[in-house]
Amino acid sequence: METITNAIFLEKKELEDNTSYLFFLAENGKILKLIALGLEKQGSKNANNLSAYSLVEIEYFQNRLQTGGKLKKVHLKYKNTSLSRKNFIFWTMASNILLQKDQWDQIAFYFLLNLVRWNDFDFTWEVIYSFFRIILLENNVFFEVSKCSSCGTKKDITSFSMKRNGLLCKKCLHNNEPFLSTSILEKIIFLFSSSSLEVDLWLNFNQEEINFLNEEFINYMEDILGINLSLLKKIS
Ligand SMILES: [Zn+2]
Repeated sequence: METITNAIFLEKKELEDNTSYLFFLAENGKILKLIALGLEKQGSKNANNLSAYSLVEIEYFQNRLQTGGKLKKVHLKYKNTSLSRKNFIFWTMASNILLQKDQWDQIAFYFLLNLVRWNDFDFTWEVIYSFFRIILLENNVFFEVSKCSSCGTKKDITSFSMKRNGLLCKKCLHNNEPFLSTSILEKIIFLFSSSSLEVDLWLNFNQEEINFLNEEFINYMEDILGINLSLLKKIS
């Protein structure tokens, strides 16, 4: 069946004989794997339109399982013009994470589409953390940020741990866990309780807060969810 969809172009894998596999995040949240012929030929229109991490419209013949098919035409709709080194690492990491599943919520598509359209987008930790939050929600991970996740009290909240499911009070804190400042606790509460999935740029994490959160995300997402975040270490 011939199908048309908007999608974000994620990755190309070249096979033999002028054949490539193309990976897209489609508007409906599906990861599309399409086979494409002749991209290496000089003057291939499709090859020219396959701009990294950009919005494209693809026409393709869908396979019966609806997981992919064969590419017919690709039109470049919105070129991603902000691919500085850091942004490029972010997109590569995001793409690697997305390719680990076949289906995401549409939120993932629209979140990334906003970044594609954000012309002078410059990498920020707020963007990364908002993206991670979407990945966690998609894995049904929610953290308790209204009370101590261990005993339920609202008093003397002094720390936060993803592995312990959220905020922690003074009494429930283990010896090896840090006391956190009110400033970072407020930002963490906002980050994980805000109902919108817009990027909250005003959060403006300082270096110490970034170090703490990066370690939390890396430990949680790698150990518990099996998501490789080695690229994050390249940015920080
Ligand atoms: Zn407690």
